[in-house]
Formats: sequence, C-alpha cells, structure tokens
Amino acid sequence: MTYDPDFDGVQVAKGGVEPTTMDPYEIGWYIESADEEIYGPVSRRTLRQFLEDRTITPNTLVRHCTQPEARPAADQPTIMEQLSLDAKGSALGDRLAEAWPRRKRDQLALAEDSLPCAWHNRPAVLVCVRCHAPYCNRCRAKPFRKQFFLCRRCQVGMWNRRVVAMIFDICMFLYFPIIVAGIIAGAVFGAGETVASLLIFIIDLIGVGLLFVRDSLLRGAGLGKRSAGLRVVQSRDGKTPLTIGQGVLRWLSQFVPIFNLVDAAAAYSDPLLRRYGDRWAGTRVIDTEKKLAKDRDKIARRLIKRGVQLPPKFGLTMEGLARLV
Ligand SMILES: [Zn+2]
Ligand SMILES: [Zn+2]
Repeated sequence: MTYDPDFDGVQVAKGGVEPTTMDPYEIGWYIESADEEIYGPVSRRTLRQFLEDRTITPNTLVRHCTQPEARPAADQPTIMEQLSLDAKGSALGDRLAEAWPRRKRDQLALAEDSLPCAWHNRPAVLVCVRCHAPYCNRCRAKPFRKQFFLCRRCQVGMWNRRVVAMIFDICMFLYFPIIVAGIIAGAVFGAGETVASLLIFIIDLIGVGLLFVRDSLLRGAGLGKRSAGLRVVQSRDGKTPLTIGQGVLRWLSQFVPIFNLVDAAAAYSDPLLRRYGDRWAGTRVIDTEKKLAKDRDKIARRLIKRGVQLPPKFGLTMEGLARLV
C-alpha cells in the first residue's frame, strides 16, 4: 500500500505563479457510523468539525476514497494533527444519524473544499484512484450508494475499452478465420460439401480454444487488450499475469447465453471492475503501466492549467486496487 499518512498538506510554491500542490486528503472522506450506515463523502474540514462538536468520535471509522479500508479517525494522522486536544478525547457512539443533513445541497456543502473538479468549474468532492483527478458530484460514477474508487470517466472508459477489446478478439479468432476458411473450402471442395463444413467446424473449434487462452499465452494481454492498453492480472498480487486455468475460467461465463450480457455489463458498475468471470477466476483487468502513465500525465497537465499540481504518489495503486476482494 502506498498511502502516505504523513503527507503534509498544501504547499504553496514560491513565486506565486507556480501551481499549488494538491492535498488529496482535503476532500473525499467516508464515515461509517455506529449504526453501520455510511455517510459521505465529506471534506477533512467537515470531519474535523464533526470531531470537535462530538458528532463523531475518534473511534468512528473513516476512509479516504483512495484508501482500501476504513480506520478509526484517531489512526488517520492527516485528520488528527490540527485538532484541539479536547476533540481527541474518547466519547461514546456518534450522533451522525441526527446530524446528517437531509437536503442534497447541504450534504454537498459538507463535501466541498478548495480543490476544483478537473473537468467542471465547481469544487471537487472525491479523488480518482486511477487518473488521480479531483472530481465533482457530476463526475461521480453511479449508483451513488456504491463507493467507487474511480471517477465516472475512468469507470466507463475502462469498460468501453474492455468491450472493444473483446469484440476485436472475437472477430479475430472466430469470425475472421471462419469467413476465410469458408471461402477457401468453398472454392476448393465446393460450397455445401461435407469436407468444407468439417473444415469450417474444425477452424471454429480452434478459434474458440484460442479465445480461452489468448490472454494467458501472451502474458496477460491478447491482441485486443494489448491494443486497448489493458492487461489481466491475478488478484492475489495484482501484477502476475493470469494463468491458463484462470483464462479458461474467466471466459466460461461468456458461454452462457443471456448471462454473458449480464456478465459483460457487471464490470461497468462494480467498483473493483470485475465481471463474474473475474470473480470466479480471481482475476482483474487493469491498465498497462504505459497507458496509465499517459492518462495520468494528461490529467496532470490539465490540472496545472487550473493552478493545481498533483503530488507524485498517493493512495491505492491500481495494482493495490486489483488486490482488493
Ligand atoms: Zn479518473
Ligand atoms: Zn466534474
């Protein structure tokens, strides 16, 4: 885990023209109340306010949107360091259920601070684990009740790239060879002949077989994924390419009619980007390092124009995200 609890907040660069280094922990906190409801996101300022007025206690579990799991507020140095001693004392339970505002606008006010959304002219409320951009409510992946690690652009973008890669591979391994084999067999043996049909059938079988192992044989990314900047890793460590067995298992779900559509769409709204096939096989699809670096660089340049500079590293890495279950 590369989360740095000692990140020391906003640093204003000298000269006044250089951008301010973004403090990702300024926004994007979720609170788990004693009644097991999850509230948020809220800004760090709100969290500190809640601690000071005893709405929550130092034992209340809180999680930054780039952290893998919730921890007591007292164990989050970035929250506690500027608190009065009084608020650090222990107390019983929390009063979040009664203190939490009903109106959406008031809830939003608790979430916003000075960081701007990378795409809209409004304050950000969360930070994306993939592109590292701070983003506003409009850029959140839906449904809101799920706690997504990625902004909507990244969540939908990953899904689109996977679908395109899959269609490419299916055409490449199934339709293209069948059409070519059909034309050749038809020309040599005559259309409708048994030998021609048999040949097409054999080519078809080989194609299906190759589809199962295409990613495993090419170190985690078949042709489609490779060109889309994706790779399949084992969730065990988030980096080793999938095995042949996992390749077969994760593709079985695609051979059940109708369920294959549900399966393909599942990764779209899963915060951990899993199809059912991925859950069965213990695999995750993530970006290649090159693609990730390129996309982060694009966002970094976009933010510089808005006067915000990204810190070099923070929160979960994508490999760390792939290890979550
Ligand atoms: Zn993003
Ligand atoms: Zn936005």
